[in-house]
Order: sequence, then structure tokens, then C-alpha cells
Amino acid sequence: MRRNATELAKMRRAGKVVAEMHEATRAAAVPGVTTEQLDKVAREVLERRGATSNFLNYHGFPAVICTSPNDMIVHGIPGSYVLKEGDILSIDCGAIIEGYHGDAAYTMAIGRVSKEAARLIEVTERSMWAGIEQLRAGNRLHEVGRAVQDVAERAGYSVVREYVGHAIGTAMHEQPQVPNYWPGTPGPMLKTGMVFAVEPMVNAGSAETRVLDDDWSVVTADGRLSAHFEHTIAVTEDGPEVFTLS
Ligand code: MG
Ligand code: MG
Repeated sequence: MRRNATELAKMRRAGKVVAEMHEATRAAAVPGVTTEQLDKVAREVLERRGATSNFLNYHGFPAVICTSPNDMIVHGIPGSYVLKEGDILSIDCGAIIEGYHGDAAYTMAIGRVSKEAARLIEVTERSMWAGIEQLRAGNRLHEVGRAVQDVAERAGYSVVREYVGHAIGTAMHEQPQVPNYWPGTPGPMLKTGMVFAVEPMVNAGSAETRVLDDDWSVVTADGRLSAHFEHTIAVTEDGPEVFTLS
């Protein structure tokens, strides 16, 4: 789906709100704080900006952000978990402005973390940027996943298969999907006006995942760390334009 200039302007505004949610939660995420408190911080940004949440009530999800610490990959529900020095924490959130969506995620260190944890965060973010770099008119969509996978696997990590990026617009999750790996068949041709969420989930160990009893939280099957980065990006004449950048 190709978005016109008016639509892109609304998505740019939604993206700015998401960026602000990132800034606010990042500043608040220190040892001793609960993930529920971070959800409250994000809700305040949505209210202040007159935006609504695309996470709240999504298939019954009870919060405006996902908080996924350590071996949790994605979809963690904010609650009584208390952040502690040495944790890594993934936060994913979105916003809707005039019916148009933004969606982005980041992983951060809580205080001082191990060298291994810091490297996983750095490589995962770098894999996302390598994917974003491929969002150019005339390229094919699978080149995003190939670039992500290349960065992650060269570093000795694995890329999650069950959860992927997606096109985004008047819904958070639109077709086509954006896998973070070579999908086996060439993807559609990219055209200006297309908008995607590129979101690698990179595991320190094996790619295998498991869903906890809350039916939301996705963790690594081997209990090792996982990181997640995401931006909402438009394909423009001048290359990729990132809407959710702080
Ligand atoms: Mg997404
Ligand atoms: Mg997201």
C-alpha cells in the first residue's frame, strides 16, 4: 500500500509521539522502578499529545507498552517486576494520530550491564539499521531481512522467526510482513509511499521461543538474553525516512 503526502504527514506525527514515549520511558527506567510505572509514564505522553494507543486492548493487551526484560523477547505485560542493575529491558510501544499508526521499540541497559549484554544490544540495533538501509524504491522487501540476518549471525547471534516486522498505516499490523531473515522467496518490489515497521528480535543463543502462561510473554527457549529494536520508516524518493526517531 502506498500512502499519499497527507497520510505520511499524519504518520510522521504519530511517529513523533512514539519517539517521545521512548524518551520518557528511557529516562524513567532505573533500578527500583516497576515496569507498571513505565507504562504510566508512556500513558502520560499519549494523553499530553492527544494520541491513542494501538497496544491497549490489542487482542486484550492490558497496557500501552510492552516491557520485556532479559530473556523475554517481546510482548511482556507491565506489572510488578522491579528493574535491577544489570538487567536489559526491551520496550515496545505505539501511538495513533487521526487514524494513522506509529510503532517502535528499543532495548536499554539498566545501570551497568555485562559486556555480553551490551554487545547484544549494540548488534541488534545495528542489524535494524542495516535493514532500514534497504528500504529504497526499486529494492525488494526481502533485502531488509537478509541485511538484518547477516549482521546478527555474523556476530554469532540468532534471529527470531515466529515474530516479524510488518507494513503499517491505518492499522498497526498490515501486510506484507517483514521477516528478519531470508524468507526463501523474493519479496515485493519497494515503491515510494510504502511504510514499514522493521523490528529485529535477536537472541544471544538459539532462535527458539516459548510463550509463558500469561499467553503474551515470549521468552527465549534456552533462557539466554534477547534484544529488540524497531522503527517505523517510509520509502521516499530520498531514501528511507524514519518517523519514530527521537
Ligand atoms: Mg511492530
Ligand atoms: Mg512494536
